[in-house]
Amino acid sequence: DSCTSAQRPWIKHTPKHTSICDSYADVADHTFDYVIVGGGTAGLALAGRLSEDEGVSVAVIEAGDAGYGVEKLAVPQDAYYDSAVGSSLDWSFSTASQAGLDGRTVAWPRGKVLGGSSAINGLYYVSQNYMGQPVAALQKATAFASETLARGGPVCLSYPAHTYRAVRDWVANDTGVAPRAEAPYDGDNLGAFVAASTIDAQSWTRATSRTAYLDPISAERSGRLRVLPNQHVTRVLFSSSGKDSKDKQQQPQQPPRATGVEFAASKDAPRVTVTAQREVILAAGAVSSPQILQLSGIGAADQLAKHNISTVKDLPGVGQHLQDHVSTKVSYKAKPDAHLPHRSENLHTASYVDGAVAYLSLPELLAYDESKIQSFIDDARNTSQKHVVGGNNAVQTGYERTSSVLLDKLTWGKRPKGAVELLLGTMQPNHVIEVQVALQSPLSRGNVFLASSDPFDKPHIDAGYLSHASDLKLLVLGLQRALEAGSDSALAQRIESLIEGDNVDPRSDAEAYIRKTAGTEYHPSSSCAMMDESLGGVVDGRFRVHGIDGLRVVDASVVPYALSSHLAAEVYALAEVAADLIKHDHRSAETGEGDEGGDDEDCDDGEDEGEDEGEDEE
Ligand SMILES: Cc1cc2nc3c(=O)[nH]c(=O)nc-3n(C[C@H](O)[C@H](O)[C@H](O)COP(=O)(O)OP(=O)(O)OC[C@H]3O[C@@H](n4cnc5c(N)ncnc54)[C@H](O)[C@@H]3O)c2cc1C
Repeated sequence: DSCTSAQRPWIKHTPKHTSICDSYADVADHTFDYVIVGGGTAGLALAGRLSEDEGVSVAVIEAGDAGYGVEKLAVPQDAYYDSAVGSSLDWSFSTASQAGLDGRTVAWPRGKVLGGSSAINGLYYVSQNYMGQPVAALQKATAFASETLARGGPVCLSYPAHTYRAVRDWVANDTGVAPRAEAPYDGDNLGAFVAASTIDAQSWTRATSRTAYLDPISAERSGRLRVLPNQHVTRVLFSSSGKDSKDKQQQPQQPPRATGVEFAASKDAPRVTVTAQREVILAAGAVSSPQILQLSGIGAADQLAKHNISTVKDLPGVGQHLQDHVSTKVSYKAKPDAHLPHRSENLHTASYVDGAVAYLSLPELLAYDESKIQSFIDDARNTSQKHVVGGNNAVQTGYERTSSVLLDKLTWGKRPKGAVELLLGTMQPNHVIEVQVALQSPLSRGNVFLASSDPFDKPHIDAGYLSHASDLKLLVLGLQRALEAGSDSALAQRIESLIEGDNVDPRSDAEAYIRKTAGTEYHPSSSCAMMDESLGGVVDGRFRVHGIDGLRVVDASVVPYALSSHLAAEVYALAEVAADLIKHDHRSAETGEGDEGGDDEDCDDGEDEGEDEGEDEE
């Protein structure tokens, strides 16, 4: 195949970075300043940033392989034609049966390899609206994500070298799928645009957190960083908690402190430990970070008791508030002259092309009809008030707060939060054009809980898809736009007919069609939400786990509610923000100053952004 190994033989021979350990003995029983759990998107970005400082030592423990020399990961077009999804480099999670999807289960791939999901994802690099940002850390993260594109950052980004006709139609003035986005990388991603891709245009290979943050580290610096693949973290270790001390009457209670982690190569392998002098940082992703917290005794006490796990900290929000971009699609038979990409075409064209997207706001979906918009919001708010998400009062209060903020943001001034995303798919076999529709602001919530106390068992994932009635309504509106794209936009000239699948016609019964076809856009988040403990939050605005010293979570799980964007750009940016905060906190601890450098605002009610928006309107 001319596009892959024949033209790029070096992919197979890329040497492993010198930081990568060959044996667990390089890490077991050692002490590091920081121990990072998971060498994924956030984990390696953090590792790269934290190891910048002289004298610091960082260990990363990754359950998956190092992944060097694997074409499926390095060759961009393999993301579409020969993906690593479903391979041994994928955790291959699956949701529980989803009542909202006619009882179906949904496959949830996650990268199990250095680079994590950035190594197996669809390469879209999309930045989120400034106004959609719920917390200060995320506002900064969006600025970083945008600047990376504008000025060049560690993650190599590039645009298609060739514009296919269907892509041109998608973003056409007046006849495109939506009005053109004015500034998708400058805080306003509403509208149609061609997204940048995480592709290194010099080598025409995929850019991942490994290629961005680990591979460029110099040999001199690599001594500060040990990266251990193929080792599964089984739990976090703590110093004895203040509540156990015999003289607790006399001494003020100290919170438990994370002192390291336990890990093993497999279920039957011996469990060994590593010590963290300063901090343990969980970066295991939206499924595994809550699982590891729960295995370590941090979670809802009643849930932990079911598995005979002693409670270190009763934190009911762990694993709650889970959200995802649920998505469906329509498929069209393309006309013979549609000129769609093909794998056998040259590298420059076949690497990209699936980057055409469109974010649509609620007002746009409802043709700016004020009464329809108000009626949608009123219905959604009423439903939210009665919608029980489980967990305890704090989790329920947090749900009501976040759903209320989210509904405000759906109609927020000039730059509301995106409600649905449409994606153009042109890489299908058999000359098919797809239009995918993905809900961006779900009001449904799910959860991740332990299925057993065995760390090697997969957790129980309930995505909660479409459990809130308004999500289905919004997805129906999005589906209508996907149908219009095929019949009433410039794209229609490339289309021969709608492909009717499985007996349900999306034009006559959109709801049934969605329930039968919907799945994931691969963007789970929020299972360790950055919110106050009284709202069922898990980390504070500085990524610190509530009530535990020396433990942070930095990955997609901390986002308080689903962003209207793909997630990788924001996860990189969150890791950058977290690295700055961690360094700052360490310096403050050393000098004895307070730790309040940087903004650490938790999820709020959006008033601050409201002020900004007011200025904007002026
Ligand atoms: C198929 C797919 C397509 C996607 N497409 C896009 C896209 O086109 N654009 C986009 O922006 N986003 C996309 N995403 C989403 C995006 O890639 C992820 O949201 C993001 O990369 C998550 O980053 P993370 O750091 O939270 O987790 P991850 O990158 O998944 O990292 C978690 C890491 O922790 C490791 N780990 C987990 N448990 C343990 C343990 N017990 N011990 C040790 N290590 C452990 C994992 O192996 C993994 O390496 C896609 C995701 C998938 C799966």
